[in-house]
Amino acid sequence: MDNMKLIGDLLHSHGLKKTPIRTEVLELFMDHDFALSASDIVAKMTAGHDRVTIYRALSSFEEHGILHRASEDGQGTKYALCGHKCPDEQHTDKHAHFVCDECHQTYCLEDVQVPEVEVSSEFTVERTSFVLGGICRQCQQ
Ligand SMILES: [Zn+2]
Ligand SMILES: [Zn+2]
Ligand SMILES: [Zn+2]
Repeated sequence: MDNMKLIGDLLHSHGLKKTPIRTEVLELFMDHDFALSASDIVAKMTAGHDRVTIYRALSSFEEHGILHRASEDGQGTKYALCGHKCPDEQHTDKHAHFVCDECHQTYCLEDVQVPEVEVSSEFTVERTSFVLGGICRQCQQ
């Protein structure tokens, strides 16, 4: 299946309208196997879009279970595409992420589940982040 069709289906199944900016942002995520930040996207977009528009697109994708937060660094939050069955309200893809010391890219470790931790009822957990560091497969070559 081509990306355009996939993107159309993805937006439709999460009740989002297909706009040129949303399409272009999702295309970028499909073309990369590592997570992207808002600044990465601004730098890679063909047409000049302001940061606010990109942030808005990213946060609506996060709300709708299309993108999840992969890691944070000095450049801001990096996002990655969710698995097929992420519902709108709460992300079910609770896997670990890997940040490379050489290229600084973030990768989803989809088959590494984040261990469940007990938290006292004084705290409501809304996000879990489990980040491993080291050298990625590209940089090992
Ligand atoms: Zn998700
Ligand atoms: Zn690397
Ligand atoms: Zn991930």
